[in-house]
Amino acid sequence: MHGLVNHGPGRSAWEERPQRVLQDPTDAIVRITTSTICGTDLHILKGDVPSVTEGRILGHEGVGEMTQVGRAVSTFHPGDRVLISCITSCGRCDFCRKQMYSHCRHAGWILGSTIDGTQAGHVRIPYADTSLYGIPPDADEEALVMLSDILPTGFECGVLNGQVHPGDTVAIVGAGPVGLAALLTAQFYSPGVMVDLDDNRLEVAKRLGATTLINSTDGEAAQRVMDLHGVDVAIEAVGVPATFGEYEHCRSISRCNRRQAVRTQLFACAQRTPAGIGYADA
Ligand SMILES: [Zn+2]
Ligand SMILES: [Zn+2]
Repeated sequence: MHGLVNHGPGRSAWEERPQRVLQDPTDAIVRITTSTICGTDLHILKGDVPSVTEGRILGHEGVGEMTQVGRAVSTFHPGDRVLISCITSCGRCDFCRKQMYSHCRHAGWILGSTIDGTQAGHVRIPYADTSLYGIPPDADEEALVMLSDILPTGFECGVLNGQVHPGDTVAIVGAGPVGLAALLTAQFYSPGVMVDLDDNRLEVAKRLGATTLINSTDGEAAQRVMDLHGVDVAIEAVGVPATFGEYEHCRSISRCNRRQAVRTQLFACAQRTPAGIGYADA
């Protein structure tokens, strides 16, 4: 099989690799039919994540078909179609029992990190029973793969950690996939202001329901949010130093009765916090 292999900062290659094999009774082997890239992968390729060693196959998001299961796997069978969670969980340790799966003592963010990942022909999934989700045969794979990581990150790190309430005004810095996921799920509660450098992304945000678009190229985004009388919640959804500045601006323009700003860091999407994928400052 082939996989996208990390060879250090700025270097990756699509290479022939040995076929995946079961290592533990709780493993499954999945043939990848749809995968995608994540900001985390870009951080790895920039050299920002030293725990990901040279030679590692990248990727932690995907949809596929089960080809082999270990003898202890009871939920799935060869031929089943599955959604792969970016977080692998044993389901038994103290953190898993507290639903803090990214802190699992035996797994967590391991795919494309400490074991070979999903940007490959096949992937080995440890703890298959508690790390995979069955999907119907006619499911839309390109939509479903967004549930591996991107949509839950926008919702859990951004909207839930930000404690968005009905009637709030929410500013989201960064109209990439995670920012758009935050926009979509913030609308469970409230309208959203989208801030980005790219007009094309802002146009997508408008189609997905953003009520106000701010192009931050001129550095005046914070002032223009202030012109809207500030916001109740500000979500930074890029994860690079340049946008942390916007985040600090957003903190400064959050309305003072409930100052709440949330930063979601893509490269931290697995392991930084008890919630697993982000942190909030109130
Ligand atoms: Zn990801
Ligand atoms: Zn666990």
